[in-house]
This record gives sequence, structure tokens and C-alpha cells, in this order.
Amino acid sequence: MEYITLNNGIKMPALGFGTYQITDSKECKRSIHAAIDSGYRLIDTAQAYGNEEAVGAAIAESSTDRSDLFITTKVWFKSFENEVCRESLEESLRKLKCGYLDLVLLHWPFGNVYSAWRVLEKFYRAGKIRSIGVSNMTSARLIDLISFNEIRPAVNQIETHLYCQRKSESEWLKKYKVAHQAFAPLGQGRANEMFKESVVLDIAASYKKTPAQILLRFLLQNNVAVIPKSVHEDRIRENIDIFDFKLSDSEMDSLTALDKAAPMIGIPDDPEKVEFAMTW
Ligand code: NAD
Repeated sequence: MEYITLNNGIKMPALGFGTYQITDSKECKRSIHAAIDSGYRLIDTAQAYGNEEAVGAAIAESSTDRSDLFITTKVWFKSFENEVCRESLEESLRKLKCGYLDLVLLHWPFGNVYSAWRVLEKFYRAGKIRSIGVSNMTSARLIDLISFNEIRPAVNQIETHLYCQRKSESEWLKKYKVAHQAFAPLGQGRANEMFKESVVLDIAASYKKTPAQILLRFLLQNNVAVIPKSVHEDRIRENIDIFDFKLSDSEMDSLTALDKAAPMIGIPDDPEKVEFAMTW
């Protein structure tokens, strides 16, 4: 496993296991066991996924030491007000059966972001959370948050994949020493065309790898951490088997050329998406 050193010195696995839409608790536990057995050490969940309890049960059952795992959760924006935020974090710690969490993110930059950030800062100072960050935050809002708070976000988790490479965001994140973590690194399986791109297929054939492995490796080589999700054991193993080859500069260039700068879900400044999010 490769690690990324966050701006507070904490080491975060560059590849982790996503758990969005794994709501059945048996399936969730089985998938997490398969992931840990395959070598994943980062598990990404969220209060909104409704699976923190199952994730916590899988961690408790695992023979891997808690200290070798990196557990991320996210606070839902409807819980951003001071006391509600504090209670929601205590509940996440309880459900995840963890004395501490490795990373907690503000899931979306809506509602009382500043209040929630200050609660995260308190938990961080108390040692209950080892690093704090944000998700779905535009570079402009991130600079604003950094400018008026003491603790700088360690991570911004944003939708990033072949068709949405986030080149400009990546530069701003680098400038402010905030790690770039990709959600939906495989386009949520919805942007199936990316698995059929001839450039991707040719590169995959030359390394005897699959298109998914090329898509993930491409992001890693761009210093973007990835958290692919699957409930299928073969794909769970496949998605982590990407550390034994390296794409050449010209392969990286031909993949970069396929960017459409087209996010599907992670668009916090699209009024229609925001209006929809408010109904959750
Ligand atoms: P993803 O890009 O990881 O895609 C998952 C889907 O890709 C699977 O359901 C399957 O259809 C397909 N897939 C997986 N492995 C494959 C393989 N080897 N070959 C072919 N197809 C394969 O999408 P995601 O789950 O939305 O994102 C990953 C994680 O990011 C989530 O599980 C969650 O933890 C996190 N996430 C965060 C946010 C946020 O707002 N912060 C939003 C969405 C997801």
C-alpha cells in the first residue's frame, strides 16, 4: 500500500474502500472483510450511508489491528449546528465502535459549515479525530474556510475520474497543502464509456490489467487518492491490484486528453443539485 502524508503529518492510505450504497448490513460486513483481507486499510463511510453500524461491526470482527486501519466518516449537513454536530459525532464513534476516527469530513458545504468546522476542531484537539477535512468543496470556498479557521482541512474529497479530472482544483489543493481524494473514481459504474475508451483498453491490454485498474492507477499517479467501491470479491481484489505497474508519461498524457471536466454528482454550485440535496 502507498500512503499520502496529510498536512498534519498523519499517513493516509492512497487507496481505500468506498461503502456508498452498501446498505444491507450482511453485504456491508462481507465486503469490508473481503476488502481488509485483500489489503485495503482505509474504509470510507458517512452518516448518510446508513451503514456505520455494519462498518463498525466489521472493524470489530476483523483480526487486523484498529491502529492499522484508517476509518473515515462524514457529517451530514443537516447536522452541522453546534450541539447537533457534536451529538452526531459521538453517535458515529459509538456506531463505528471506535475510540477515535482517522478522518472526518463535512460531507457537503451547505448549512452552518463554520459551526460544524469548529466542532470538528474541538474533536481534533481532544484526540477523538486524527484529521479533519471537507468534501464537495469548491476551491473558492475552501480558501475562505482556510482563511478564517485555525485548523486547515487535511483532505477535500471530490468527484474525480477520467471524465472529471479536476485539474484546476488539484492545483489549488496542492497550493494549500490539502490532499485530493477522489470519490466515484470509476464514475460510479454509470459512465460506462470510460471502460470502453480505446486508449484505456489498449493500455490495459499492454499491462495485462483491466480498464478499472488503469482508471485507478491514472488517478494515483496524479497524486489523487482513490476509494473505489464494489461488493464483488473479484472486483474488490482487482481494484487494489494496481501497485505493480507504472503508466508512462505518454500514457498519462493520452489519458489526460480524455478529460471532459464533466462531474455527474459532485456539483455544489448547481442550484438544481443543491435544491435536490435539501430534500434528503
Ligand atoms: P465508484 O466510482 O467507486 O463506482 C462504484 C461502481 O463501479 C460499482 O458499483 C460497480 O458498478 C463499478 N465497479 C467497481 N469496481 C469495478 C471493476 N473492477 N470493474 C468494473 N466496474 C466496477 O463510485 P462510488 O461508490 O460512488 O464512489 C466511491 C466511494 O466514494 C463511495 O463508495 C463513497 O465511499 C465515496 N463517495 C463520496 C461521496 C461524497 O459526496 N463525498 C459521493 C459519492 C461517493
